[in-house]
Amino acid sequence: MHARKKSARLLRCPTCGMLVRTADEDFPFCSDRCRKIDLGKWATGVYKISSPILDPEVLEDLGELGGFGRGGEPDEG
Ligand SMILES: [Zn+2]
Repeated sequence: MHARKKSARLLRCPTCGMLVRTADEDFPFCSDRCRKIDLGKWATGVYKISSPILDPEVLEDLGELGGFGRGGEPDEG
């Protein structure tokens, strides 16, 4: 006879440290809010970005923050 045991895995939210179930739709974050906070860390340079960002939406976000200088024509004069 084998004992039936529920194997619900719990991991901690990388943003706030709260326990999150792997079945949660916001996994690995506890909430959509924490997910956005984590993304914000990336945008502000808390984490090192080693690969180029190809998502135009992300580039637009960074442009608003002044991270990327787009269309930099040399100022003559
Ligand atoms: Zn969280």
